Amino acid sequence: MGRVRVLSDDVISLISAGEVIENPSSVVKELVENSLDAGATSVEIAIQDGGKLSIGVSDNGSGIIKEDVPLSILRYSTSKLETKDDIDSITTYGFRGEALASIAAVATLKITTRASEEEVGTHLVSRVGEKPSISEKARTAGTTIEVSDLFSKVPARQKHLDDSRTEGRRVHTAVMRHAIVRPDVGFRLSRDGEIIMDCPAGQSAGDRVLSLWGSEVSKGLEDVDYSRDMIRVTGFIVKPPASRGNRGREFFSVIRRPIEDSRLSKAVEAAYSTLLMRGRFPIVCLDISLDVSRVDTNVHPAKREVRIANIDEVVDVVASAVKNALFATGEVVDTKDLTSFPGLAEEAASTRTFVESSETDRPIETRPALLEHLSLIEESDLELLSETLDIDILDGEFRIIGQFDKLFVLLEFGDDLVFIDQHAVHERILYERLKDRLDAGSVVVQELLEPIVLTLNPGDAERIVELSELLGKLGFEIGTFGGNEILVSALPDVLGRLASENELLSIIDRVLDLGEEMGVEDFMDEVVKTTACHSAIKAGMTLGPDEIRNLLVEMADTPNRYYCCHGRPSIAKIKRQTLDRRFGRTRPDAIDRYKSRHGIK
Ligand code: ADP
Ligand code: MG
Repeated sequence: MGRVRVLSDDVISLISAGEVIENPSSVVKELVENSLDAGATSVEIAIQDGGKLSIGVSDNGSGIIKEDVPLSILRYSTSKLETKDDIDSITTYGFRGEALASIAAVATLKITTRASEEEVGTHLVSRVGEKPSISEKARTAGTTIEVSDLFSKVPARQKHLDDSRTEGRRVHTAVMRHAIVRPDVGFRLSRDGEIIMDCPAGQSAGDRVLSLWGSEVSKGLEDVDYSRDMIRVTGFIVKPPASRGNRGREFFSVIRRPIEDSRLSKAVEAAYSTLLMRGRFPIVCLDISLDVSRVDTNVHPAKREVRIANIDEVVDVVASAVKNALFATGEVVDTKDLTSFPGLAEEAASTRTFVESSETDRPIETRPALLEHLSLIEESDLELLSETLDIDILDGEFRIIGQFDKLFVLLEFGDDLVFIDQHAVHERILYERLKDRLDAGSVVVQELLEPIVLTLNPGDAERIVELSELLGKLGFEIGTFGGNEILVSALPDVLGRLASENELLSIIDRVLDLGEEMGVEDFMDEVVKTTACHSAIKAGMTLGPDEIRNLLVEMADTPNRYYCCHGRPSIAKIKRQTLDRRFGRTRPDAIDRYKSRHGIK
């Protein structure tokens, strides 16, 4: 009897529907998960042209019996779920019976498979809009799935794929996400014929991490095994200076199911915050095991997120686990917790688990639903710029849209809507400039026509006079008449332009706050920061087009422009295609614009 069946309508209605296939990496993710669900111990992935030309995934798993092959590509056909009750106890990656159908709807799909109990294999070819053909074909037990012509019949989606390098990188990350939590399974990935990942089956967790991350991490790798409140966090973190320019090496899993969760990312980044430069991200892979009844899978269509009851508590334990590994020299780790709920250890080691996503991340399914939920734009739509995600104002065409709320400068840049926090970015510009000049000993001093006299507490005045030599290096000329008054007769020129007595007092206050035990270098850096902050264009200042243009030109030459010097982001963008998606638009006109911009006929 066949194993694959089409789900009944009442089960279908419980399943979180939505777009499963966005790009080559989502195809690869689904195919790899199918291989793992089939019990494969070896999975080989090959992509051409970032997966845009072709994707192949081969495994040595259970295979699909002949009569099930045509069923497997139908929507809601699965061997993994039968009744409503099964949804609450999903132990496989897949359960919706949607992936192969979704792929077959937008690409040419070829399946070559042989179930171990059958003599001869089956070959299916499915092309968009055509009836699939089936024939016999020899194969060792297992399954090979080949996907080509992705989105060739859906040009609007095809045009939105990124260049091959970017898509290829995404595929690499997607495979890594699974490979890192399944050291028992062998993974090999090749890109245009070149092998870029080759991990043998049956590695230890540590060996697997080293074979995936290699020399990048070998020095700083630290084990994590931390438990609290029935939550156990295991895996690895890498101590700085090793770090990345983006979140591509932050791997999280819940009971060995890879997930993405910005709350976990932020908590881990906060734990690292004093160790990493702004704009750098940690390298970690952390698995969270907890009572399975706290975890729910059936929310995100691509199953990238899970819903965890009491997520705050979990986030907190993860942050402690990371801090412990980074800083502590032997905080007591309470592992006896785990023995108090039976089955957890086995559960953690098992490959088949289940997961769910949070309410706010619930995907928008249909257009009417979208209109009801007016929260169209989500935080994740906003992409913070960084070294690896940049816009080159000097190089590209841009249009100044204007200012929003006298704080954000809005630009149209290519296909993106760009937001610049005028204060944050100006603060960074001034900081870098002042610091350069300080380092070069060429601070520009602006003499004041009329010195400013500030009245302070006697102790504070004395302290400022003590510091006047250091402050002098930055361009502050400070004298005293004795007593409570100090006399400021010159300022760094960056400050001069916007100086007011109040700004100056704020800077002096900050200087007085700085601890006496602080080293000279840190002290100067703090003063440069506060000077930059108080000299920068403020929120609430109206900027004209020329001022905006000047700001942009200065910004383009400034290092670390993605963050103000207190670490807040300064530039972000929303992709046009994200807006299209959120507004439920398809864009025939945009395709023409895209073609003409890129000279495509
Ligand atoms: P789901 O994984 O949610 O069941 P899919 O569309 O991904 O849905 O797959 C449909 C069915 O095809 C699976 O339930 C499984 O029976 C079969 N299948 C797909 N890929 C493989 C594979 N690599 N090995 C064995 N069976 C597979
Ligand atoms: Mg599947």
